[in-house]
Amino acid sequence: MSAKVLDGKRIALQIRSEIAERVLAFRERKGVAPCLAAILVGDDPASQVYVRNKEIACSKAGMDSKLFRLPAATNTEDLLKLLETLNADTTIHGILVQLPLPSHIDQRRVLDAVSPEKDVDAFAPENVGLISQGRPRYLPCTPHGVLQLLHRCGIPLSGVEVVVVGRSDIVGKPLVSMCLQKEGPGGASNANATVTCCHSQTRNLGEVTRRADVLIAAMGRAGAITADMVKPGAVVIDVGINREGDRLVGDVDFDAVSQVASAITPVPGGIGPLTIAMLLENTLVAAEFATNARRS
Ligand code: NDP
Repeated sequence: MSAKVLDGKRIALQIRSEIAERVLAFRERKGVAPCLAAILVGDDPASQVYVRNKEIACSKAGMDSKLFRLPAATNTEDLLKLLETLNADTTIHGILVQLPLPSHIDQRRVLDAVSPEKDVDAFAPENVGLISQGRPRYLPCTPHGVLQLLHRCGIPLSGVEVVVVGRSDIVGKPLVSMCLQKEGPGGASNANATVTCCHSQTRNLGEVTRRADVLIAAMGRAGAITADMVKPGAVVIDVGINREGDRLVGDVDFDAVSQVASAITPVPGGIGPLTIAMLLENTLVAAEFATNARRS
């Protein structure tokens, strides 16, 4: 079997063009552009590239973005002060703190200080709680990208066995929570899965992953999902991004798993582009919330 390659880049472009149309209509209606503030602390080269890509994506969608570039020596209090200002600034609709922060900064305190209304990454406890109760304000960007890809490729989740490998607050846990809901971003067929979550303490990982109709890897371990861990005909979603020399590779052994799976996402060109598209979606939603709230 040779798996169908699910083209995340193409789907992301489609979503971005839909968002650009909605942004145009929003600007005509409200007379302002949605605006994302990004905070970048330090000189991590990968973070600089990510933030730059987000800025470009905003601009192509007709949105504004403001980059706050701070030196690596910035401390927690400085960041909290900046967030207070940005939270109060009505011209800014979404706030993004690029991770990782330098280790001397209290990341939890900083993320908790982002106003839940502007929390376009959906990290705030209030937003996490709303997702878990099935009434999201924002959907976290990478898990939302995974669900959009499955929906737009016509791959239903309802009633199927989903196995998520990884339990981070950013990817694994919110994915589990979203797959479990009765309604997904693409309706009831884009949710209602039977979900298992694996992590580094899971025994016999391969036995568990082989149960999956849809296997989602978010481990940060290059090539860790091998062909013998995949049920023949399964759909395999690779969230992992790992650097090997100057190459980016996923958590899935792409060539070998392609011989077993029915469909698979590549790295790069799979979930990465969708993550940025869903950030734009959240920024637009944030601007809609803010301007509606102000009018009433
Ligand atoms: P974390 O390091 O925060 O979490 C990794 C998770 O994988 C943990 O829950 C860990 O378990 C689990 N894990 C690690 N090794 C194993 C193993 N051998 N067997 C089973 N479980 C294991 O990473 P993130 O969730 O932030 O990111 C995961 C990957 O996704 C990374 O490669 C990251 O770069 C990528 N990523 C990609 C994005 C995109 O846009 N495509 C966006 C965000 C992340 P435990 O909890 O027990 O430690």
